Amino acid sequence: MATSQQYDSVLKNGRVIDPANHIDGRFDLGIRHGKVAAVSENITPEMADDIIDVTGQIVMPGHIDTHAHLSSPFNRNVDRAFGHTMLVESGTTTALDLAGDPTAMSDGMRRRGAGLNVASLMGLVPHSTISEDDPRPSVLRDAIADVKKRGGFGVKLLGGYYPFTPEASASAVKEANDQLAWIAFHVGTKESGSDMTGLREVPEITGSGRLHVAHINSYTRGMIDEPHEEVQEALGMIEKMRSQWVTEAYLAQANGTNGLCDEAGNLVYNVAQNCLKARGYPTTDKGVRAAVLDGYGSALVERGGRVMLVTGQEAVDIWEAASTDASLSFPVNPPTSAFSLATAKYGDGTFRVDAVSTDGGSLPRNVAIERTMALVAFGALSMDEAVIKLSYTPSRMLGLLNKGHFSEGADADVTVVNPSTGKASMSLVAGELIMFQGRAVGRGGTWLVLEDGRGAAESSGLPFEVVNLEDSKLYANWN
Ligand SMILES: [Zn+2]
Repeated sequence: MATSQQYDSVLKNGRVIDPANHIDGRFDLGIRHGKVAAVSENITPEMADDIIDVTGQIVMPGHIDTHAHLSSPFNRNVDRAFGHTMLVESGTTTALDLAGDPTAMSDGMRRRGAGLNVASLMGLVPHSTISEDDPRPSVLRDAIADVKKRGGFGVKLLGGYYPFTPEASASAVKEANDQLAWIAFHVGTKESGSDMTGLREVPEITGSGRLHVAHINSYTRGMIDEPHEEVQEALGMIEKMRSQWVTEAYLAQANGTNGLCDEAGNLVYNVAQNCLKARGYPTTDKGVRAAVLDGYGSALVERGGRVMLVTGQEAVDIWEAASTDASLSFPVNPPTSAFSLATAKYGDGTFRVDAVSTDGGSLPRNVAIERTMALVAFGALSMDEAVIKLSYTPSRMLGLLNKGHFSEGADADVTVVNPSTGKASMSLVAGELIMFQGRAVGRGGTWLVLEDGRGAAESSGLPFEVVNLEDSKLYANWN
């Protein structure tokens, strides 16, 4: 018999970790109507319509991935919508799609969604998503207003692929800020690269504004100085820009790039050039072929409803079949940089880099949870700190005030982690199971939009939620 005390489901006997409420211990988590209803020492079985035994497992607020790829202007040889399943299978419950398109993302969510909450940005690609090479402020203004109407959170500058002048990059930041839209930057301009030279320009490009500086680890690969020197310099810049930037870093060695070569056989994109330079290969089609045949470079391929990495001749064949416009990956992220960026703190104990992201989704490197758990096993992070980096601070970054914690009435988004493997074993969104024992069981998803995108979300037929970025850390104390 249902009473007001009845729970729809109860996660029983887990180690519940909720740093925002200073909870770490053996508790039952009661869920009602998709919300957290109770964290209690004992909820009796008759009070639960459904009991999920999580004895010995870690129960944390769901992983919020502040840098994922679920739709993309790149890499037409793989369907980015596979990223929904791949992220869900690694334990993520909410994602920011960092460089795609909100219309393509929502279409992918309908086709291949696996139950995630997703906000989407549009990557700024000249003559594709934006009409000019170094777009004027009025062109940027219109593009940002349009993407918000189509259900996007904002835009991303793809400096490692489609660099603008520093002036046009600064205009993009200002125009996004003026409209309280999200603005993320993969650093690099026409005067720098996707490395420390690009990062050094960012304070000036930011001006007095606000900016999400994407994947800090990508600029500290040792292209300019030693990796540890670059990490220290980056952390110093983050401190100076503490009230204006939000940041994340990922923990995978593999990067993601594109092997496109021009008619002369030269690699087009700066990120790909850097990957080859790092091991002394020429930045040409011959260099790509040699690097892939040596097993250094890999290509992305769809297999069994997932995206995987293959290398050697098979990868060369994929790259050639795509006329060189194929997704490639190189193991260029030094673990030492990843470790330092994930663990560095200010004197007051807060983290310098806000979040651990995947930069994955449709790239098979969704290791944020398991690598963060490895840092816990190593003693480099406490379990509380792991949850802060994986869920609580990301929720603040994005203004998702009802996520990242288990206060009564919070969204019942939960990631359950097996402490012996460090991998997620189960997850729920709004109280519904979306992943069980490593398999995605959710469908569709919830589209996170701004108020301007309400109409697009309504006509999509997808469940949606309107977010106000005034609540986000990006725009904290903005006026
Ligand atoms: Zn990315």
